[in-house]
Amino acid sequence: MEISLADPIVAGKILWFVGLVTWLVIRYRPNRTSRKNKISKTARSPVETFSMMVSFTGLGIVPLIWIFTGEVSAFDHAANWILTLFGAILFAWSMVLFRITHKALGAMWSVSLDLREGHKLVTSGIYEKVRHPMYSAFWLWAVAQPFLLSNWIAGFSGIIGFGTLYFLRVGQEEKMMEQEFGDQYRDYCQRTKRIIPGIF
Ligand code: SAH
Repeated sequence: MEISLADPIVAGKILWFVGLVTWLVIRYRPNRTSRKNKISKTARSPVETFSMMVSFTGLGIVPLIWIFTGEVSAFDHAANWILTLFGAILFAWSMVLFRITHKALGAMWSVSLDLREGHKLVTSGIYEKVRHPMYSAFWLWAVAQPFLLSNWIAGFSGIIGFGTLYFLRVGQEEKMMEQEFGDQYRDYCQRTKRIIPGIF
């Protein structure tokens, strides 16, 4: 097999993989800190566990299987440099946003629907613009994926996977936050959108 960097298909796979590793690096410390921070309340449910697995599969497992085993290669399609470059820009933007949101949330971050001891509502910085900037970052990743991976299944599995998590979770998360923070959260919802500043 000949691997050529001058091929946008190969370059797209490499760029996607670099993005994944970057994300793992960004998540490493928040993951460790959050384990030390006691959970005071949780809204984790079987549906939440299921949707996290679906998201993980779509954004990670399916692309990895395609890249490393060539499974589902019957669904491969052509690639070109413009689309690959566009995907790389979206993925890079997603990683920058991940870093910003982790910095802003700090110890309040959880991988799932948890509230920490002494949980404070963050409404400044990036959280002044939208309520779910980390989910905006995941959407950017999901949308970047079909531009980087020239396979219909590996490309679109991210949108399906993260979309499932997003739509099953966001309402539950807002309900949990409203129960905890009451009017403070309701006011915050009045001034902000969910994902795209001023639009959605
Ligand atoms: N939905 C947010 C955060 C994702 S992490 C985003 O997309 O940026 C999920 C956890 O973050 C939730 O369990 C909740 O406890 C916490 N969280 C969400 N919004 C928050 C906020 N504005 N301030 C503090 N914690 C928040």
